[in-house]
Amino acid sequence: MNTFKERLYPDHGQYLAVASVFCACRTDYQDVLVFENPTFGKVLVLDGIVQLTERDSHVYHEMIAHVPMIAHGDARDVLIIGGGDGGTLREVIKHPIDSVTLVELDPKVIEISQQYLPGISGGAFADPRLSVVLGDGARYIAEAGRRFDVIIVDSTDPIGPAQALFTDPFYAACRMALRETGVISLQSGCPFYQTTHVTRALSRLRDRFGAAGAYLAPVPTYANGLLALMIAGLEDHLIPALEVLRSRVEMIGLDTEYYSPVVHHAAFAMPPRFARNYDDDQSEERFARPLPDWIGRPIRRRTLASRTSR
Ligand code: SAM
Repeated sequence: MNTFKERLYPDHGQYLAVASVFCACRTDYQDVLVFENPTFGKVLVLDGIVQLTERDSHVYHEMIAHVPMIAHGDARDVLIIGGGDGGTLREVIKHPIDSVTLVELDPKVIEISQQYLPGISGGAFADPRLSVVLGDGARYIAEAGRRFDVIIVDSTDPIGPAQALFTDPFYAACRMALRETGVISLQSGCPFYQTTHVTRALSRLRDRFGAAGAYLAPVPTYANGLLALMIAGLEDHLIPALEVLRSRVEMIGLDTEYYSPVVHHAAFAMPPRFARNYDDDQSEERFARPLPDWIGRPIRRRTLASRTSR
């Protein structure tokens, strides 16, 4: 059997056996490879870097989507930047939203994903609430002219066209494009190796949004296996009380494989070294926020969160 070797770092990497190749081509923006691995199922690779596999992508997609959506509590208008495989979109439309806009640079990623990895989007591209915009996410956000409740940056790593999505001007534009109570989530690479990158991004997000925090998710086929994500918005969005998360998840009957209220909470628990690097407050008070007064009332008598503050 042939092997695919991912060399994200100069002195180590991972390999995956290739049972069969479905697509190997060059688009206007990147090299695309889709192949079958006996353990992980179909694998999508862009520019030599694993983006997802059928076996473990749900962890990534659920954590990048549900953490900000549930933390917000009443997101109506959602923007996904990147995410052409449709996995994040599939999770976002499980929420009672009014609209979702997906801005993907490379139309071929959408096309190839739907052709060879249809289970990842699970038909989400047919959702009538969806608008697909083909173009650069940084440019779109600078010119958006409308506001969102949640922005999810589901991009490739900060090299090539995705570089602009990790800069301060981009975060500033995202803040402008978010409503007062808006939340942003981003994938942020590897907490073990990319310390400077994660720390710098967090401090920029704190400057722009007031509050920002890192959270972790295990994704076996991402080099080193542990992914850092970030969320920024109001302090209340960072680690809502467990009861708040439970109540919101129950209210929409959210069906997931990895995400749950306890997993949401636990993802913000940082080992001491990461907490020091990220200057992250791990105090008990932060994990035990006061409960809002609607907790305990019958579910149908209240909305997910007050919409009057928008
Ligand atoms: N889960 C993934 C990972 O491993 O990080 C991300 C997958 S998703 C396929 C990333 C998408 O972001 C790609 O389809 C890529 O074309 C898109 N992308 C990269 N830069 C972009 C930009 N500036 N604007 C919009 N989309 C962009």
